[in-house]
Amino acid sequence: MKKAYEKPVIFKLKTGFMNKFGGGAYFRKVRGDIDGVPVEELVEKFGSPLFVFSEKKLRNKFREIKNAFTLRYPNVEFSWSYKTNYLDAICCILHQEGETAEVVSEFEYEKARRLGIPGSKIIFNGPYKPLDALRIAVSEGARINVDHFEEISDLEQVADELGKKIKVGIRLNMDTGIQPQWSRFGFNLENGQAWDAVKRIASGGKLELNGLHCHIGTFILDPKAYETEVKKMVEFAYRVEDEFGFKIEYLDIGGGFPSKNRLRGVYLPPDVAVPSIEEFADRVCTALLQSLRPGDYPKLILESGRAIVDEAGYLITTVHAAKRMPDGRRAYVLDAGVNVLFTAFWYHFNVEIDRDVQGPTEPCVLYGPLCMNIDVVDDMVYLPPLPRGTRLILSPVGAYNVTQWMQFIRYRPAVVLIGENGNVELIREAENLEDIVRRERLPERLKLQ
Ligand SMILES: *Cc1c(COP(=O)(O)O)cnc(C)c1O
Repeated sequence: MKKAYEKPVIFKLKTGFMNKFGGGAYFRKVRGDIDGVPVEELVEKFGSPLFVFSEKKLRNKFREIKNAFTLRYPNVEFSWSYKTNYLDAICCILHQEGETAEVVSEFEYEKARRLGIPGSKIIFNGPYKPLDALRIAVSEGARINVDHFEEISDLEQVADELGKKIKVGIRLNMDTGIQPQWSRFGFNLENGQAWDAVKRIASGGKLELNGLHCHIGTFILDPKAYETEVKKMVEFAYRVEDEFGFKIEYLDIGGGFPSKNRLRGVYLPPDVAVPSIEEFADRVCTALLQSLRPGDYPKLILESGRAIVDEAGYLITTVHAAKRMPDGRRAYVLDAGVNVLFTAFWYHFNVEIDRDVQGPTEPCVLYGPLCMNIDVVDDMVYLPPLPRGTRLILSPVGAYNVTQWMQFIRYRPAVVLIGENGNVELIREAENLEDIVRRERLPERLKLQ
């Protein structure tokens, strides 16, 4: 086929714009469908912007990650990190796959219970667990990972009230070589604080320590950090068992595995920069099997969030206008911005367009619809001249966006799920005025007319 003529253009080069992986000059990533459903059909039916989740991708990704660990270690539990994506439909798919629920607030706890998850299948984490929430969690048999000394006292109070001993885990923070170190959650291992917490629990005599928890960070690109984490946890567990006679039944190593997203400032493409889940599983399970005593297989708990759901999510957004910036860059105004794409602050999404557009590619900025200077979806993406109405398909956006999105000047858009059979189902309606004003109360005396 004869290639279409493209008129030559001259760009002013700016340092910092290009890198050898840019490949922008050949940008022609066209995507007409998601899982076989035409993008245009989705928009016609549900509007733009639109979040689209692929059930097939979600289940496959979960199974891939689950297999990587269960093939290497005999006692594994996956617990779904609600804050990564707590849409009912997404949670239920992962619960169907066998995940328990990992929650970090009363709201998330209630949401999991409402879906039918029993307390005994909930892990309650986080630095802020009000006394009432602890009472409910304890009486319903949830696993609780303690964050600080005050929480130890609170749980002792609950133990008194219920007249029984309560099993608890503690959250640790430690140096695994990852910078910045997440030291604000739990008890520090290296400075002896974690040991003090165990002593405190033992001396109170009302709680029984049965687990250790840690979550070293998020989007961790170095599998070795997990090896360090696991070795330190096992060593600590045995010190605790030997000294205090507690039995550590589970080691919860948290989440943090990366998705195939492109972190800003990381210039290698995700296929090169992001290690495979097998590499992570291998580090974790080898470290476990090497450091555990013979015949001892405490439960390994994983709270992986973004690695499971991120790549199952897409956002369809539409070009509303094109502009030329004073510095020469082309810019587009889209109908979705950082209000619905909170993770745009950290990642360069994969940008695909719904049609083949002729013309030279050039560096472009993607602006959202907000009246805020920070509303930039991407400040550096190579695109051909897009006509108004072009649909952009951004991915992966399945993690943290539909929980951290904000209702600032606009309604939040609809979310749909493409089932494994190709059927499209609405899993969250687009918001309207009634959703927003329902909680407001206008004093009679202020009413107009
Ligand atoms: C957020 C969070 C997770 C999930 O983290 P990902 O990086 O998305 O895998 C797991 N555990 C805890 C305690 C968390 O706060």
